[in-house]
Amino acid sequence: MAAPRRPRQATPHAEPRKAAPRPRSAAARLALATEIQRRLADAYPNAHCELDHRNAFELAVATVLSAQCTDKRVNLVTPELFRRWPTPAALAEALLEDIEEVVRSTGFYRNKAKSIQGLARALVADHGGEVPAEMDALVVLPGIGRKTANVVLGNAFGMNEGVVVDTHVARLSARFGLTRETDAVRIERALMPLFARETWAQLSHLLIWHGRRVCDARRPRCGDCLLNDICPSATL
Ligand code: SF4
Repeated sequence: MAAPRRPRQATPHAEPRKAAPRPRSAAARLALATEIQRRLADAYPNAHCELDHRNAFELAVATVLSAQCTDKRVNLVTPELFRRWPTPAALAEALLEDIEEVVRSTGFYRNKAKSIQGLARALVADHGGEVPAEMDALVVLPGIGRKTANVVLGNAFGMNEGVVVDTHVARLSARFGLTRETDAVRIERALMPLFARETWAQLSHLLIWHGRRVCDARRPRCGDCLLNDICPSATL
């Protein structure tokens, strides 16, 4: 049964905040991580990837477009993008200027258009037009880093190869005191032993959903947060 929520006076505060005290022992961190995951899973039973997609190719492209942009905005752009260029082969042959025009509203559109066309061309040239379901093959593709590879593997292929560390996951991990690392790959490495492997993809959704809905970067709503009695960063 979930522990009762303890009401607190919410006091908005802006980042950067002081680093959260880190639970002293590995066992304490593990216990905290387990309880956080249990409560978030109860609170967000339908947490899922909020980027609309029908296959691994669409998810990979949408994830590239989501850099420095909201999922909502990306979801407004991708229907037209995939209507015009539904496959890697089609996108590989498109005029770069046309792609730029379609993805313009997601920001950094020149780089993003170049990245997704480079990705499409590499998929055609090296993978028969398919997205490979392997971390090593994904991370060498244009525009695909470890975060995007984890998104694709976890959501399009149902594989738990790692934990997606985006801005929300990084911020919440620090606020929970689960790690002091600031580099995404190191944060991922610190999180992996704290959570069961078969839950890694879902864990990312839970943290992202909580970060978007309650634990905002600038104004965390600690007073309404179901973790406020166990979170070391809760506003007193
Ligand atoms: S109590 Fe909740 S909202 Fe406040 S810092 Fe912790 S997780 Fe974020």
